[in-house]
Amino acid sequence: MATRFSQASRLQGVHYDVRGRNMVEAQRMEAAGERILHLNIGNLAPFGFSAPETMVRSVVAHLAESDGYADARGIYSARTAVANYYQTFGLDVDVPQVLIGNGVSELISMLLQALVNYDDEILIPAPDYPLWTALATLTGGVPVHYLCDEQNGWIPDLDDIASKITSKTRAIVVINPNNPTGAVYSREVLQGIADLARTHDLIVCADEIYSKIVYEGEHLPMATLTDPDTLCFTFSGLSKAYRACGWRSGWLVATGPLEQAENLLEGLQLLANMRMCANVPAQHAIQTALGGYQSIDDLVRPGGRFHDQLSLAHDLLNEIEGVSCQPARGALYLFPRLDPEVFPIADDEDWALGLLQSKKILVSHGRGFNWPDPDHFRLVALPEEKVLREAIGGIAEYCDETRVR
Ligand code: PLP
Repeated sequence: MATRFSQASRLQGVHYDVRGRNMVEAQRMEAAGERILHLNIGNLAPFGFSAPETMVRSVVAHLAESDGYADARGIYSARTAVANYYQTFGLDVDVPQVLIGNGVSELISMLLQALVNYDDEILIPAPDYPLWTALATLTGGVPVHYLCDEQNGWIPDLDDIASKITSKTRAIVVINPNNPTGAVYSREVLQGIADLARTHDLIVCADEIYSKIVYEGEHLPMATLTDPDTLCFTFSGLSKAYRACGWRSGWLVATGPLEQAENLLEGLQLLANMRMCANVPAQHAIQTALGGYQSIDDLVRPGGRFHDQLSLAHDLLNEIEGVSCQPARGALYLFPRLDPEVFPIADDEDWALGLLQSKKILVSHGRGFNWPDPDHFRLVALPEEKVLREAIGGIAEYCDETRVR
C-alpha cells in the first residue's frame, strides 16, 4: 500500500538487475570480511585497466580551468573531435549534431525523456543492456523486445522485428557490438534493420559504446547505413574503449533529417540545459582520446588481454557439462546458456545468488537482461587469466552441485 514515503509509481516495472539484490548481498558479504569476485559489471579499473596516460595528462592540464560550468552541449574541442571522428566514416557530421553527456547512460536517459510519450513502443533487443528497457519504461513508453537468435550467433531476427512493428512504434534500439551477447552485426543485418526503420519511419538509436572492441569481423556504424530520411542517434564514450568508466563521459551524435527533427532536438537541448553541463575535466580528454594512437587495439588483438581472456573464458565455459556459450566477437561479455534439462532453474537470480554464496563469485542472471527464460547468465571476462581460471573453476563446481544429471 502506498504511503507518503512510497517511491513514485512511475518506478513500477523499472528494473536494473546488474546492480540488483545479488549485488546488495555481495556488498553485505564484503562488509562481513568475505572476498568477492565481481564478474557482474563491465567496470575495468578494478581489473588493472586504466585510462591512457595521455588522457590523464589532458585532464590534469585543464583542471585549473575546469571549475566553471561549460556549454551544456559540451566543450568545443570535444564536440569537434567527435564530429571529426564520425566524418572519417564518410558521415556528414558537424559540431551542432554532437551532445556530450555524463556517460552514455545520461544521454540515453535524456534522449528517451525528450522522445517518448505515454504508450509509445520502443523496439529493444532481447537480451539487452537493461538500461534501455528501464528508461523506456520510466519515460512512460512500452519496451517491445525483439529476439536475437542464439543459434545464429545472437544476430537480431529481422522477421521478429518486422512482426513487432505497430503504429505505436517510435524507435528501434540497436546495440552493436552487443552487451551481453558479444555479437557483432554484419552489414546485411544492419542494412536490414535500417531498411525496416526507413519503411516504418522509425528513429534508430545505435548504442555503439563497444565499437572499438571487436575481435572478429568489423564494426560498421549504423549511421552509415541508415537512409538520409531516417533520424539516427549514435551513442559512444570514454567508458570502455578508453577504460575510463568513472570519468562519466560520452557523446551522442544526431544524423538524418535534422531540420524535421528540430522540435525533438530542442527538447534535448532543454534537458541538457537543465543539468547545466557534463563533467568538464573529463571532456578535456575526449579530443586526446579520439586522436592518435588507439591503445585499445593492443587489448583487442590476439595476445591482448581482452581478446585472450574472452576466448579462454569461452573455451572453459564450454567444457562445463550442460553449459554452452557463443564466442564473443566484440565487447567484454559472455552470455552462456544453462541447458534447462540439465539445470531446471526456476529463478536464475536465485541460482546466481547460490553461486555468490557458495563460491564468492558474482555474475548477473540472464533475465536481468530482459531475456525471457531463466537459463542464461552473463559473465564479464575482465580478470587476468589466473583469476579467470579460478572463477570459471568455481562456476564449474557450482554447476556440478546444481546439475540434475
Ligand atoms: N551502453 C551499453 C551497451 C553498455 O554496456 C554500457 C555500460 O556498460 C553503457 C551503455 C553505459 O555506459 P556509460 O558508462 O558511458 O554510461
